[in-house]
Amino acid sequence: MARVLIIEDNPANMKLAVLLLHNVGHVTLSAVDAETGMAVARTDQPDLILMDIQLPGMDGLTATALLKQDAITAHIPIIALTALAMKADQEKSQTAGCDGYIAKPLRYAELYAAINGLLPESNPTPLPQSSQI
Ligand code: MN
Repeated sequence: MARVLIIEDNPANMKLAVLLLHNVGHVTLSAVDAETGMAVARTDQPDLILMDIQLPGMDGLTATALLKQDAITAHIPIIALTALAMKADQEKSQTAGCDGYIAKPLRYAELYAAINGLLPESNPTPLPQSSQI
C-alpha cells in the first residue's frame, strides 16, 4: 500500500487513476492544479506523485522541477502523465526530473508496473482483466 498524490485537471482521467489505485489498495490524494498539488506534496508527503503534464496555470513539468528542487519533496518519485506518447515529452519529463513516464489513456498494467518499479515494497496486485478508458 502506498499513498499516491494524483495531480490531474481532467475529471475523467482523475476518476480512472483513483479507481485503478484503489483497486490495488493504494490510498489516493488529489489536486487539480500544480500549485495545490505542490502544497499537498509538502504537507502530506505522499509516497509517489502522478503528475499530469498539461495543467491549467503552472504546467506539470515546471511543478516537477520545483518539487525536485525542494528538499522537503525532492525524494518523492514522480511519474509524468501525458496525453500524447511523444518522444519529446518523454525527454522533457526526464529533464524536469520525473522518475517515470506514462502516456494516457492510463492502462492498468502500465500504471502498476511503473509504480512497482519505483515502490517495489508497495506490492499491488493487478486485476486480471484489461481496463482502459
Ligand atoms: Mn491536463
